[in-house]
Amino acid sequence: MPPQTPATGPTSAADTRPQVRPATEGWEQKVGSDGRPLLQFASPRRGRPPVHWADLRVEDRAPKVVELGLPRFRAAQLSTHYFVHHTAEPAEMTDLPAAGREELVRALMPPLLTEVRRLTTDDGATIKFLWKLHDGALVESVLMRYPGRVTLCVSSQAGCGMNCPFCATGQNGLTRNMSTAEIVDQVVAANRALARGELGGKSRDDSTPDRVSNIVFMGMGEPLANYKRVIESVRSMVAERPHGLGMSARGITVSTVGLVPAIDKLAAEGIPVTFALSLHAPDDELRDELIPVNSRWKVDEALDSARRYFEATGRRVSIEYALIKDMNDHAWRADLLASKLNARGRGWVHVNPIPLNPTPGSIWTASEPDVTREFVRRLNDAGVPTTLRDTRGKEIDGACGQLAAAD
Ligand code: SF4
Repeated sequence: MPPQTPATGPTSAADTRPQVRPATEGWEQKVGSDGRPLLQFASPRRGRPPVHWADLRVEDRAPKVVELGLPRFRAAQLSTHYFVHHTAEPAEMTDLPAAGREELVRALMPPLLTEVRRLTTDDGATIKFLWKLHDGALVESVLMRYPGRVTLCVSSQAGCGMNCPFCATGQNGLTRNMSTAEIVDQVVAANRALARGELGGKSRDDSTPDRVSNIVFMGMGEPLANYKRVIESVRSMVAERPHGLGMSARGITVSTVGLVPAIDKLAAEGIPVTFALSLHAPDDELRDELIPVNSRWKVDEALDSARRYFEATGRRVSIEYALIKDMNDHAWRADLLASKLNARGRGWVHVNPIPLNPTPGSIWTASEPDVTREFVRRLNDAGVPTTLRDTRGKEIDGACGQLAAAD
C-alpha cells in the first residue's frame, strides 16, 4: 500500500530518481512585461474565415434562405445534405433547383478545409489529416477506430497561446481562433472519409455505424480559450439530425489545461459533455513550469473547479496526465495526486495517465514501463480509478501539433 499521509516530496527509495525540469535542455519560459509567463488569450486579428452554414444557429438558417429568396423548407434540405450526408457538393444536391444551385451552395457552404496531407497507420485504423484553412493556417485532426466506436481528435485553434514546453503547437504561439464551422467541418470531413470506407481496422463483427461517435478536443489549441465557438460547435454536434450531427454529449470530451473561469462557465451550460483537465503535475512547483497557465490558476484551484464541474453536471471528470520520464512520474507525485483528489471526495474523477510519445535523446520522453505501472498502481490502490491510455498514432506523430509544426 502507498503511504496514506499526503506526500509533498520524495518519500521513498523509488523517488531517488533524478528530477528533470523543462529548463534542463535550455527551454526558457517567455515572460510578459508584467514578469509573468507569457500567455496569449486573445486571438490575433486576422481575416475571418467566410461565414458557413455551420456558423449559423439553427433558428437563423431558415431566415437566411428566405433572405436569399428561397422558401423556408430549403433550410432543412441544406442541413440534411451537410449534417446527414456530409456533402457540400452542389452536384449531389439534386433536390435543389438546378438554376442557381452552384452559386447558392458555394455562398452558404464555402470550402473551409483543404486537405494538404494525410498519414495513415499500417493497420489503417488511424488517419491523421493536415488541413489548410482559407488564410493558409494549418491545423490537424486525427481519426481513430476502436472496437465499437470511432473517435475524432479535433483542433479548436490554429496554434495555441498556452506555451506548454512539451508541445510543438505551443512553441509557435497562437495564429488565430478557429470558427465554429471550421471546427464542425473537421467532423463532417471525417464522416465523409468514413462513408467512403477510407478508415480501416473494422472487424467483421463490428456493426458500429461508419460515423464519428466520439469527439475529443485535444488537437491543436486550448478549447476554452476559444470558448464561444467551441460551445457553438458542440451545440451543432449534439443537435438532432438534420439540424446537427445528432451526437451524444457524453461522447464529446472538452479538455483544458485549467482556465478556471471558463470551466465554471462550461459547467453552467447544461450540455453534459465529458470534461478533462490536463493536469500533468500535482504540485505547483513543477506545474508552474510544465503548464505555464498554472501561473494564473494553481493546481488546487483547477481541481476545485473540476470538482464543481462534477457537482453541476454529475459527469465524472477525467484527469489527463502525460507521464514524462524523471519529470512528473515519481511515486510521491502519484501519492500527492491521489490525496488531492480524495480530499475532494470519492467517485467523481478518473485518472488517465498516458506515456508521452518517446523522443529519443530528449528529456521529453516516455516513462519507463515499470515506473508507469507503479504510478498507476499507487493511484488505484488509493481508491482513484486509473486507466493507462494507449498512445494511438505514435507511428504518425500523434502528439498534437507535430504534423503542422513539421510542415
Ligand atoms: S499542450 Fe495543449 S494547451 Fe498546451 S500548448 Fe499544446 S495545444 Fe496548447
